[in-house]
Amino acid sequence: MNQVIGNNEIYYMFTCPRMFYFFLQDETDNVIVENALENDRIRNVKDYFKNISWVDAKKNPEITKRTVKNEADILNPILEGSIKGINLKLAVHALIRKKDKYHIVLSHLSRRPSKRHHVIAASFIFLAKLNGISVSENIIFLRKKSMKTQRIKEEGYLLFLKTFREIANSQEPPPATGTRICNFCGYWEKCHSFNVDDRTKLPVSSIRGIGANMSSIMKSYGISTLGDLIDIPLKKELEEKLKNIIRYKLQAYSFVNDTALFLTKPDLLITNNDNNGVYFDIEADDSPYLFGFLQNDQYKYFLISDNDSRKSQIEDIMKYVEQLKVNLYHYCEYENRVLKELSNEWKQQFKNEGNGDLKNKFLKSFFETPMIDIYEIIIKNIFVPLRHYSLKSIAKWLGFKWRIGLDGRSSIQEYRRWLNTGNKKHLEALLLYNEDDCRATQVVKEWISSPSSFDHKHLILNRRDVDDILNRK
Ligand code: SF4
Repeated sequence: MNQVIGNNEIYYMFTCPRMFYFFLQDETDNVIVENALENDRIRNVKDYFKNISWVDAKKNPEITKRTVKNEADILNPILEGSIKGINLKLAVHALIRKKDKYHIVLSHLSRRPSKRHHVIAASFIFLAKLNGISVSENIIFLRKKSMKTQRIKEEGYLLFLKTFREIANSQEPPPATGTRICNFCGYWEKCHSFNVDDRTKLPVSSIRGIGANMSSIMKSYGISTLGDLIDIPLKKELEEKLKNIIRYKLQAYSFVNDTALFLTKPDLLITNNDNNGVYFDIEADDSPYLFGFLQNDQYKYFLISDNDSRKSQIEDIMKYVEQLKVNLYHYCEYENRVLKELSNEWKQQFKNEGNGDLKNKFLKSFFETPMIDIYEIIIKNIFVPLRHYSLKSIAKWLGFKWRIGLDGRSSIQEYRRWLNTGNKKHLEALLLYNEDDCRATQVVKEWISSPSSFDHKHLILNRRDVDDILNRK
């Protein structure tokens, strides 16, 4: 095993063992996503220990070891070495010198330090010893403005070895458990490839909507795997006892056969389905700030970035929406809700300014702009052979690739960085991300309107087809 296990890999090991399994099998290093929040953690350390003059080791093992010799306090230290044949290269956020020992500092966002933090701390202690560096087993855990010291014993290191071996020796890829990280997982295609698992043998919890509770209820009816779920005849009694069983059976069939099921003909799914629709997506922090529109392949955006000009910024958005006169496609109901709220806010401002009686064209006609929620259409009419029905998941399955590895959470970090620094590169990253969300919405809309233009298997079902699939008795 030549791969080097770093902080990212340990993160994935505990977040999605399946991803780590693929990584261990891989010749190339596909775990490339840097944790977008690392800089914030380092900032947290600097803010908390204001009086320390740090030497930044820049995640370089040589600088780290050199700085240790000078007994300075170190930011971004990293050490490498091998534990039982496993190559490790691990960083912690800081090392603080107290008396004759270093104390490890780990900043975290979770409420408590997680298993992963314990593993990193324990393994770093091991590497420090290998490198002849004296470190304390009392770890400083920092969360925003609070700090606690916790003694880390061998358990973290043993947990690392146990988890590593379990995944490395597994004959089958572990079940998929990643959710948020799926968006930028380098193994997404492999994970969703039809050939990787025998899907009939997967537990029922592998499909959308079945959690631990429903899994155990199903078990009492002899349904453990997706194969069981498909095979069991749909009798009246089962239908009465297991709420949503019809949905689960269709979802299982779709997933096992890697085939989308349309319960409604594609040409009936969207009213006024013209090709000139506009695709719309919002980015939000505590409140929405970026409104992106894709019309005739041209991306246009509006920002609500400044309280002083909020009124005119909202007005610009409303006027733009009003003149569209075509379907406005979005994914999930959030976009619809926000536009309605902005419209009401704008209306209220008009009233406050004494213009309440104005029959303003824009205010009146906004609600005539047809807003079409693609997600709603999908969940009501289509079964997709995927675990998640998010925009990211369906568009990726259809072959769409985002140009930038952000997700909802890291996009908020980018936004805050842009506000704090004014550096345009953060805004540019957000625009790219938002534009791709609009483009992905377009791809999904095109697929539901015309699935035969895509390579992905699909069936358009009539009532009898559905009964056959349900094995209705
Ligand atoms: S796509 Fe998601 S579930 Fe699959 S391996 Fe990657 S992180 Fe895990």
